[in-house]
Amino acid sequence: MRSETVNPENLFKCRRCGACCKGYGGTYLTDHDIDTISRHIGTDPQQFLAHYCTLSGARPLLAQKKDGYCIFWDQLCSIHPVKPLMCRKWPFIESIIVDPINWKIMADSCPGIQADVPVDVLKNCVKQMLGDDGDI
Ligand code: SF4
Ligand code: SF4
Repeated sequence: MRSETVNPENLFKCRRCGACCKGYGGTYLTDHDIDTISRHIGTDPQQFLAHYCTLSGARPLLAQKKDGYCIFWDQLCSIHPVKPLMCRKWPFIESIIVDPINWKIMADSCPGIQADVPVDVLKNCVKQMLGDDGDI
């Protein structure tokens, strides 16, 4: 497997199982996420933060329902077109570059991830996907 011939789609294909939309992990929101999701659901950012989010320190993250699923999970992601940057980039996140072992750990709970990938290929795909979006 040569890194220059492998695309991110070769390493991950979402099975829509919802496993990553459940449990405490923390779906953090950028200011842009807050604006676009608020508009999409027909509210304003203040109401959105008050009714759909919780805080981790000073950072807003999506709230969870009693069953542990994200507040926007309803058999599928109900805000798919405007889902947070973190959800759109998953599983190509900065921590993979910091420590590629995280990829295998994530693959244990995500059936869409191809676990056995050479580190150089993996890092190349993560960099492609993160682009200018920086640390998520
Ligand atoms: S756990 Fe993986 S396969 Fe399942 S919905 Fe999340 S990203 Fe998709
Ligand atoms: S916003 Fe959508 S994709 Fe992201 S955690 Fe919630 S239900 Fe899952």
